[in-house]
Amino acid sequence: MAEPARLSLPVAPSSKEGLLEQLRSLVRGEVRAGEHDRRLYATDASIYHVEPLAVVVPEDVEDAVAALRLCAQWGAPVLARGGGTSLAGQCVNRAVVVDMSRSCCGVGEVDAKALRAQVEPGVVLDELNAALAQVGLCFAPDVATASHATIGGMIGNNSAGARSILYGHTCDHVEAIDAAVFTQDGGVERVRFTRLGEMDHPLGCAIGERIIELVERNAQRIRQRFPRTPRKVSGYSLDRLLDQLESDGKDAVNLATLLCGSEGTLAVTLGATLTLTRLPAARLLSVAVFGSLEEALMAVAPARRTGPSAVELLDETALSLARASAAHRDDAQALPTLASGAPAQAALLVEHSADSAATALAQAAQLREALAPARVVAVDDADAARLWALRKAVEPLLHAIPGRRKPVTFVEDASAPPERLVEFVRAFRRIVESRGLRAAYFAHASVGVLHIRPMLDLRDERDRDLLRDIAVDVA
Ligand SMILES: Cc1cc2nc3c(=O)[nH]c(=O)nc-3n(C[C@H](O)[C@H](O)[C@H](O)COP(=O)(O)OP(=O)(O)OC[C@H]3O[C@@H](n4cnc5c(N)ncnc54)[C@H](O)[C@@H]3O)c2cc1C
Repeated sequence: MAEPARLSLPVAPSSKEGLLEQLRSLVRGEVRAGEHDRRLYATDASIYHVEPLAVVVPEDVEDAVAALRLCAQWGAPVLARGGGTSLAGQCVNRAVVVDMSRSCCGVGEVDAKALRAQVEPGVVLDELNAALAQVGLCFAPDVATASHATIGGMIGNNSAGARSILYGHTCDHVEAIDAAVFTQDGGVERVRFTRLGEMDHPLGCAIGERIIELVERNAQRIRQRFPRTPRKVSGYSLDRLLDQLESDGKDAVNLATLLCGSEGTLAVTLGATLTLTRLPAARLLSVAVFGSLEEALMAVAPARRTGPSAVELLDETALSLARASAAHRDDAQALPTLASGAPAQAALLVEHSADSAATALAQAAQLREALAPARVVAVDDADAARLWALRKAVEPLLHAIPGRRKPVTFVEDASAPPERLVEFVRAFRRIVESRGLRAAYFAHASVGVLHIRPMLDLRDERDRDLLRDIAVDVA
């Protein structure tokens, strides 16, 4: 059997074979390196395509650690993967991909009183929340891909869903992360990252001290340069660490916050202690319909002032695709028409979560007043479920657009202060429409984050050039 010989990039086929041979003899789960698997794992939900060196599907967390240790000895790059639903290529790379989603998905102790649960990284959000709902609790960040997204992936992306105006990001709900850290000498250490004052692993404490020193030294620059938008997940969360440092002191700085959003670049999550949230007593969904996208965007700020738990935008493209879709035609029936009887050109789904049905009803009444003269209808639970299903289906529906030009994900999760959304979308439309193209606009208007999908034909070289031009102009 080949001795570990540290790999240099690009990896020579002979070295790769040596690593594969050792992985196969060590790992109890699967080690896959055939063309089919490499292609399968070369993609996520983005436009990127990078074939991994190999794929390890560990049998359990200990098996994953064994694979990581061997990769570390070989100096092989490693990328952990959950549901693979990332939109910007986060879980593809020329690396040994370790797929945590199949067998590292246990739920450990749930302490309903302390609002705490211990989980493995591959647990899927919907499955976790189905179990927690039985005791009136949930893990609050609610990504649209909840049926596939894993806690490890949510931590990796610092995910935030439709209700992020109320619940924030994943980092706001993670107390501690048990992680595998790669050391310079080719080893792997298991470290529990939490508040610095509660950490006892020498390496973890040393990392914490260095990070705090870095944050302190760059405090002014962090304040100047980090965006102040409510939704921000690009880069490492040094601004959040600075917030913790300034408000509660060094011991309260939680290193788990830093791992959230690090896209697997700092450590591999092996487990997490999550903070749980009580399910609200009442949730009431109202639908506001508009004659244009701009009218809907202008209604976002007044809708926010009524204290919603979600404000989600659907544009004309999404609405007309839903009406034409066999799978979602019925769901689209739950959308009211405009007062004139004409079909809506844009809609806002505005949800209020409250301690009682009466409070939610009062908030919905405030919303109607705030958005007048727009038509706003509070719907029953059955219609709310249909409208949420429709909202979650927008992305797949967009791919049903006829013709060669399809929605392309490359200016993803663009974010603006919510009060400047109209301005932002106007500028974006100018960039797209001046090139004779159109785009779909939908998602988290509450926090100024839109999924924007320009329609392009990537088989056409001219459209590929347009993609580059648009990306540059938007940036
Ligand atoms: C239609 C659609 C809608 C979406 N809506 C939202 C949304 O509302 N909000 C949002 O935030 N995102 C959204 N996303 C993006 C994505 O679905 C979420 O971020 C999701 O939480 C990712 O989970 P995952 O398990 O698929 O992670 P993956 O895509 O598998 O991984 C995400 C990142 O985490 C890393 N990672 C995974 N597991 C580990 C681990 N064990 N240790 C270390 N790193 C790890 C990966 O390397 C990668 O960098 C959407 C995607 C689609 C396709």
